[in-house]
Amino acid sequence: MTHTPIWQLKKQMCEIGSNIWQRGFCAGNEGNHSVRISDDRVLCTPTGVSKGFLKPEDICVVDMDGKQVEANPAGRKRTSEVLVHLAIYKQLPNTKAVIHSHPPHAVAFCLAGMPLPEGIHPEAEVFLGRTVFAPYATPGGPDLPNSFLGKITEQTNTILMANHGSVSLGKDLTEAYYRLEILDNYAKQLILARQLGKVNVLKNDQMVELLQLKQAFGFPDDRLSCAADGCVGQDNRVFLASFGITPMSARCDGPGGLVSSTSGHDDDDFEKMVQTITDQIMAASN
Ligand SMILES: [Zn+2]
Repeated sequence: MTHTPIWQLKKQMCEIGSNIWQRGFCAGNEGNHSVRISDDRVLCTPTGVSKGFLKPEDICVVDMDGKQVEANPAGRKRTSEVLVHLAIYKQLPNTKAVIHSHPPHAVAFCLAGMPLPEGIHPEAEVFLGRTVFAPYATPGGPDLPNSFLGKITEQTNTILMANHGSVSLGKDLTEAYYRLEILDNYAKQLILARQLGKVNVLKNDQMVELLQLKQAFGFPDDRLSCAADGCVGQDNRVFLASFGITPMSARCDGPGGLVSSTSGHDDDDFEKMVQTITDQIMAASN
């Protein structure tokens, strides 16, 4: 039996849903994803179904106003969050797939009110670029799209919504899903590096070289025009401040600078502390 291209897309939505659930990006029936199939038609996940157990017949079809236009074979209703997806499709014609998810490490940044820092990891720069941080709006409410629509451009592929979750965009579902994986992995790496207490920020000339490479890959990035002047990493201060250092006392000179030390001690203080502890151990063992 041969299946229609639409059925194949529905099947792919189920497979991606399974990955999302297995990776722990969505618990219970959280999250939703969609694919734009024409100017006025979008496939989307139903409300109330785990992303790990979707079947092709569960997938709903809506128009650009969010009205369900075909009777769903499984009697499913479209996700209430599809209005967020539709607002993005209307603003960004090149976006053909949207995944809303709750990836735990990235959501930690949402909960902490920390924009994802940039200018730190090459892959994150090439595949995510500058992410958008949106202020809190009630999930499912009419204000949710308004919290980020003014901030997104065709270069945006990742949105973090304060106290809520992420939205990943792509030209197809696979691309949007890869970006979701890269987002959560990058957020996890940042949290681990924070536990080590030190993060080296790429220097301006290193960022320029990286963004030139990104452009050569076919991903233009407007930051290339100002990276040499340090425009990358302007939003990093909230993350860097979480290391317990202030920009004045730290050897942090903004983008391109080096951030180190978590405890407020400089290296001399640290050396003294180590010496004191060593002396105490030696004294105790004598
Ligand atoms: Zn959500």
